[in-house]
Amino acid sequence: MRVRTGIRVEGIVQGVGFRPFVHGLATALGLAGLVGNDAGGVFIEVEGEDDAVDRFLRGLRAPPPLAVIERITTRPLPAEGGGGFAIVGSDAGGRRSALVSFDSATCPACLRELRDPADRRHGYPFVNCTGCGPRFTIVTDVPYDRPNTTMAGFAMCADCAAEYHDPADRRFHAQPVCCPACGPRLVLRDREGRERAGEPIEEARALLRRGGIVAVKGLGGYHLAATAADRAAVAALRARKHREDKPFAVMAPDLPSVRLLADPEPAEETLLTSAARPIVLLRRRAGAPLAEAVAPGNRSIGVMLPYTPMHHLLVSEPLVMTSGNVSDEPIAYRDEDALTRLRDIADAFLTHDRPIHVRTDDSVVRVFRGREMPVRRSRGYVPRPLPVPAGGPAVLACGAELKNTFCLAEGGRAFVSHHIGDLENYETLRAFREGVGHFERLFAIAPAVLAHDLHPEYLSTKYAVERAEERELPLIGVQHHHAHIAACLADNGHAGPVIGVAFDGTGYGADGTLWGGEFLLADLTGFQRAGHLRPVPLPGGATAIREPWRMAAAYGVPATLAVARRNAAMWDQVVAVGRAGLGAPPTSSVGRLFDAVAAVLGVRDRINYEGQAAVELEQRADPWERSAYPVRLEDAGDGGPSFVVPGAELVQAVVDDLLAGTSVPAIAGRFHNAVGDLVVAGAVRLREATGLTTVALSGGVFQNLLLLERAVTGLEAAGFAVLVHHRVPPNDGGISLGQAAVAIARAATEPAGPTS
Ligand SMILES: [Zn+2]
Ligand SMILES: [Zn+2]
Repeated sequence: MRVRTGIRVEGIVQGVGFRPFVHGLATALGLAGLVGNDAGGVFIEVEGEDDAVDRFLRGLRAPPPLAVIERITTRPLPAEGGGGFAIVGSDAGGRRSALVSFDSATCPACLRELRDPADRRHGYPFVNCTGCGPRFTIVTDVPYDRPNTTMAGFAMCADCAAEYHDPADRRFHAQPVCCPACGPRLVLRDREGRERAGEPIEEARALLRRGGIVAVKGLGGYHLAATAADRAAVAALRARKHREDKPFAVMAPDLPSVRLLADPEPAEETLLTSAARPIVLLRRRAGAPLAEAVAPGNRSIGVMLPYTPMHHLLVSEPLVMTSGNVSDEPIAYRDEDALTRLRDIADAFLTHDRPIHVRTDDSVVRVFRGREMPVRRSRGYVPRPLPVPAGGPAVLACGAELKNTFCLAEGGRAFVSHHIGDLENYETLRAFREGVGHFERLFAIAPAVLAHDLHPEYLSTKYAVERAEERELPLIGVQHHHAHIAACLADNGHAGPVIGVAFDGTGYGADGTLWGGEFLLADLTGFQRAGHLRPVPLPGGATAIREPWRMAAAYGVPATLAVARRNAAMWDQVVAVGRAGLGAPPTSSVGRLFDAVAAVLGVRDRINYEGQAAVELEQRADPWERSAYPVRLEDAGDGGPSFVVPGAELVQAVVDDLLAGTSVPAIAGRFHNAVGDLVVAGAVRLREATGLTTVALSGGVFQNLLLLERAVTGLEAAGFAVLVHHRVPPNDGGISLGQAAVAIARAATEPAGPTS
């Protein structure tokens, strides 16, 4: 029977080769009809025999690689007769909700052209097509058309234009399409910004081989590159960058060379070769050909594969590819700025004339039990939407202070921003403000509610308050650890209630103290604090975070220990500050408990990057250690199931073991096991009281895979269902999604009107 069906496809379906794909599918099945883009996605009409139409609908489910289909809806139409299948002009009307795509690694077809001496794009470092190339980082506005990208200044040559307008071509409506005749041009500049003679890639490679450091303009910003096996070059890079210990990422040319550096498992290789091309944290191989200074004292190594044609041309052996910045500044992405800021680090600049519109860091992921767990969600992932409950107002969630992201949500979609960074200086605050405005335009979302952290001093909180006053919008304050658990729920499409375990550095508690070792009974609308680590003083406040030895003092370890002797000049004073409580706010943070143990074991007294002491304690722990220190839950005395955990007993057990001559790896292993047991014991107690059988684990402490493994194994053995993160990081990079989920859920249960 001859039928005609109207079809609407929503999701990331524009600028990804979707219309040529539909054209090809319909033509192959002998169907008549049309396909076009509109503000909501792609509309299709197909007409023909009903079984062919059914096959067409099934075929739509296997779209081009960069397309992400969120929804397909159909409706019957009267048959019109006639033949032929047309790609029709775009309909610009209606509410805009078609989605901007993410930046995507060079596809196999473009790679073949890059390497084919007969191809007109042979060796051209900007080759791309509808299946690959820059997107989010070059989009300046919507709709996604060339004038609204940083390719606007490059007029297409006749050959490129012909491809661009041919529905049968791989480059049909590929906005960044270009070639050597009409597109961006690579140059190598010296420190003074002067163009150097010679072929830029060849010259840059020669410089790297001689031990030089080259600033390389990538998709979302500048990298600093050095040959990863060259000890002198990597050491020079560390010294010039003022970065003492934080591991550098490495870009390897291909999978076989990755396997010389690390032992990737299949899920890790899948991520390495995915279109997003994140940095994947891998187990480092013993004897890997890497300079020690690449990742000092670290059992893992962050590796990525080339993701632009330029990288493919440049990288023939593993290169350190670290963010183009000094110390903790945001990475440079504007050419002038890069030349100024990196001139004392780089010997040369491999750069080009296609501007980067949005600074976007490399994403960082690890694999936990065969599944992805993000550590930093940025390039290649942003701005893919994440599902949240539909309905409710448009929300802007402003995120936390460190590792900030923000999140715009409306109509069941949450757009979590690229990694903004630590909101502690003008540059990151500006990036935050500009980013919010950019997202609001790109996704046509005008927030009606602003969600924020309870910490009054976070710049993200101040922004929310200021904007709420300006526009008379309601504010929703979301407690930090509740936001962590809500992020884990949203990440897993779970509404709760659950037993939430939120372990992190510090977050502002509902009672104004610093929390960080929390057991919550939580759903998306609210929470009850049901258990926590017994608070100890944080002597010197933020100073104690930078100096873990102070936490050893705060936990009252004997003054005869080596950690006290190493810090003798200040020890008594810090102990006194802790006792008096002045300048020593109480904290229930598990991160600080790890700090105390790391200091007691001589792993680290002072840190150079956030979480360093805990990271190094994990690295030192013997993963085969099976015994654990006993953990105890004390009744909180409120007549309910609430409990307090005396963390000092764990520290004391560590001290006793150390004095008994037990090795540091064994002690660190036992301590990890004990914290894992603590998670299980707390969950069991709360299950007995509430009947809840699902546990959500969140907070930066759960980036520690040894602890996560212990906790999840123990919980599952005790019969719990366990939720961990797969789409947003467990650290503060996930907070904005949690805030948005809470704001949406509260709006659904409360009458409209200002809340704060
Ligand atoms: Zn391609
Ligand atoms: Zn061209």
